[in-house]
Amino acid sequence: MSLHIVRVVLDAPIDRSFDYRYQPSDGDEGMPQVGQLVAVPFGRRSVVGLVVSTGSSTDVPPEKLKDIAHCYHNIPSFDKAWLDLCRFAASYYHRALGEVALNVLPKIIRQNKQKSIEKALGALDRMPKGKTAISVGKPVLNASQQQAANTIINATGFSAFLLYGVTGSGKTEVYLRAVAEKLSRSPDAQVLLMVPEINLTPQLEERVHSRFPEENIALLHSGLSEGQRLRNWLAAMTGTARIILGTRLSVMVPAPNLSLIVVDEEHDPSYKQQEGLRYSARDLAVWRANYLKIPIVLGSATPSLESWRHVQMGRYQQMELPERAMENVSHPEVSLIDTSSEPVVDGLTQPLVAAIQKRLGKNEISLLFLNRRGFAPVISCNACGWMSTCHRCSAYMVYHKTGRLLRCHHCGLARIIPKCCPDCGNLDLQALGQGTQRIEENIRHLFPEARVQRIDADSTSRKGALQQAFDSIYRGETDIVIGTQMIAKGHDFQNLTLVGVLDPDTALFSHDYRAGERLFAQLMQVAGRAGRNAMKADANPAQVMIQTRYPKHPLYQAMCQRRYDAYIHELMEERKMAGFPPFGYQALLMAEAKDINKAMAFLQVAKSLLAKHHGITVSDAIPMAVMRVANVERAQLLVESVSRPLLQSALSDWLPQLKAQKTQVRWSIEIDPLSI
Ligand code: ADP
Ligand code: ZN
Ligand code: ZN
Repeated sequence: MSLHIVRVVLDAPIDRSFDYRYQPSDGDEGMPQVGQLVAVPFGRRSVVGLVVSTGSSTDVPPEKLKDIAHCYHNIPSFDKAWLDLCRFAASYYHRALGEVALNVLPKIIRQNKQKSIEKALGALDRMPKGKTAISVGKPVLNASQQQAANTIINATGFSAFLLYGVTGSGKTEVYLRAVAEKLSRSPDAQVLLMVPEINLTPQLEERVHSRFPEENIALLHSGLSEGQRLRNWLAAMTGTARIILGTRLSVMVPAPNLSLIVVDEEHDPSYKQQEGLRYSARDLAVWRANYLKIPIVLGSATPSLESWRHVQMGRYQQMELPERAMENVSHPEVSLIDTSSEPVVDGLTQPLVAAIQKRLGKNEISLLFLNRRGFAPVISCNACGWMSTCHRCSAYMVYHKTGRLLRCHHCGLARIIPKCCPDCGNLDLQALGQGTQRIEENIRHLFPEARVQRIDADSTSRKGALQQAFDSIYRGETDIVIGTQMIAKGHDFQNLTLVGVLDPDTALFSHDYRAGERLFAQLMQVAGRAGRNAMKADANPAQVMIQTRYPKHPLYQAMCQRRYDAYIHELMEERKMAGFPPFGYQALLMAEAKDINKAMAFLQVAKSLLAKHHGITVSDAIPMAVMRVANVERAQLLVESVSRPLLQSALSDWLPQLKAQKTQVRWSIEIDPLSI
């Protein structure tokens, strides 16, 4: 009798596959195929495995060969394209295939909850399939939009487009036009639309839904219940949903007939997963488009330097939308308030206060952007210099007025603010610097009549609170909004004519070489909130005011002239000189231990193991910028090369050696780290 061998990978950080025997039995649906899920015995447990190949021989001796427990015939099998995507992600990020593939599956599938799966599949069968792609309520595109849309639509094979245009320039309309075209050309076609943040999904979903009322949309983000996640995943996987809309995790969803991918705000750091498999969803999306030979559109007002470089090298095609799309809507005017000459009282300068004043009573909204929540970033003792440090982290505890608490934003530790200095007993403790709570207090004091809304992680921690706050602004019940980067993206407030930016300078002196790029993107985004809709004739012109000590800095100068290209040019030169991305490739080895010396010692050994590799530069091991978090001390080692293949091959050689080290240090590797 011939042997039926099924080779599977498991959800484990072991880079190998396991052989099992399949024994046909009565009523059985047949031999499991490649891409199918099976339950197999592993040690004493039964675990889920993914079939990667089948055959008739194995190296496993007969007495050790175990049978598969059963095959999940009810779940459609994964296609080769999806398996190859997982294979690529595993090899590029140096993970095991099983770890990658099984981890991206909905929990209900991984746990093989048969009943739930059958119910979900049954519901899909009853879903009407939109095969007509009726698109309703579409505006007439302007010339640059039309040209961009045509170029995308007419592209054959793999093409990557960088759609470069400020907020409101009509990028989304271009995406929707390309989507409409793709869906109408083939009854099976699917499209994937990605946004960086979960908060941005409802708006886009609504817009897509009203444009394509006949289509099923599979929404995928981390805020779904397990049941919803399963249903939407299966809808994409079976082709029932032709439009897939989601955050970074949606890049790994199986979609048999994917024919267009859109990555909106492609520069956004949220596309990078910061734990586990630290993948870049944007980069995987480009890989996927290339593999499938389909177009991909990367949209942004402030493209990443990586994408910009691809354009320079002729790999991506840039298309520009130079103006705001709606009539009577122009770009806001950007001005700088020099805080070295203009006094700052309680975080605000006189010109900014006057500008807010001018808008009150006219039903115009002012928005103040400060990327620091809490009341004050630190409190200190005037007498002895004590500061509110966290005893578990190398960081200050932030003063929060609500509950009179000191909170550590790194480890979450909270304690009641001391009545007097813990070191010298002095009663006069001082709150240093400004957070959003303090600005709110100052604004309420300055403008007692104004309706003020603060939006940050603290004010919106309750479920639904964020939506409530936005709704109240949409209804015109707010005069002044104060917020962190939560308000910077996507929201389209009527009658918002003033944006004030408070204290953005710290990013200019950050240890992080990408801080400038990120600040610029944030400022462009928050500036984009101003004057999004056509104004009444007597309204104030849309204005952005930035309070800074460094008005001559090229970043702010570029902001004023709305010349992102000028600033990106400067950044490119800097990166080139330093050999940083996109001119070099990096991997970061991170080590954690109770004692920093142990972490450092591990990294030094790691460094010595890399010594023989050519074309690789290894920096010295250094403690991380915030060295200690929750009593764990952390250090890092940066590995660089001007060649991606050289870096990859060095890592393939090196990481197994590291795994073989006996150490108590916890370590992990990150490929293409966003911050070092
Ligand atoms: P972006 O995605 O670049 O921020 P959107 O596509 O959301 O821009 O367009 C901004 C606003 O302009 C939206 O309200 C949109 O409906 C409108 N709009 C876009 N293109 C046109 C057009 N060609 N004619 C009229 N309105 C348009
Ligand atoms: Zn003191
Ligand atoms: Zn802490």
